[in-house]
Amino acid sequence: QKIKPEKETYVIASDSAFAPFEFQNTEGKYEGIDVDLMKAISKMQGFNLRMDYRGFSAALQALESGQADGMIAGMTISDERKKNYDFSDPYFESGIQIAVKKGNHAIKSYKDLKGKTVGAKVGTESADFLNDHENQYGYTIKYFDSADQLYDGLKIGAIDAMMDDYPVIGYAIKSGQNLETPIAKESGGKYAFAVKKGQNGELLQMFNEGLKELKRTGEYNKILHQYISTDS
Ligand code: GLN
Repeated sequence: QKIKPEKETYVIASDSAFAPFEFQNTEGKYEGIDVDLMKAISKMQGFNLRMDYRGFSAALQALESGQADGMIAGMTISDERKKNYDFSDPYFESGIQIAVKKGNHAIKSYKDLKGKTVGAKVGTESADFLNDHENQYGYTIKYFDSADQLYDGLKIGAIDAMMDDYPVIGYAIKSGQNLETPIAKESGGKYAFAVKKGQNGELLQMFNEGLKELKRTGEYNKILHQYISTDS
């Protein structure tokens, strides 16, 4: 089904570092699952695309203020977010997880986080989860603006543990970062493309149509497996 674009160019806000969904390669160019999906869908549906990799909470703000028409950033669908955004069909099943420095055997369950400092990226599902369980487990939360700062924070010992989406931690471990995940992940989060509630409906429709087509042709699986190996 062909939907007519209503704008000359659609600005899509994204995270600045969220590998393997969006990240800068060795040439400084952005690539990743979100990037490839968005490019393939815009091509297929015939609309012009300008990606704006500004960071997760900054992307939310860009959508809010109308500086961006849409957002793709490994963004998890939630009831709370549904109040402000319209979500596409989900395109990836995710979940969040605690990570610690490799070799840290002191943390084996949430209870072991008592008195510790746990980091998360501001505005994320992980930040919400940590906030919801802060009193229960007795840790202190430290918020970071970007993944680089968060992962560095753990490396240099500014935090004892961190929470992030599990495929992102998994990708970091595969890329050689000294992390481990002693606590089972919280499953259930699904990623979707989003627009501001009640706006850019045609863009949302084009995304859904394009995604359906990419799944039908096998292109979706190709993109996924380019960044995530099936054995993980
Ligand atoms: N999936 C998480 C969320 O939606 C994290 C997204 C991100 O950091 N880019 O909150």
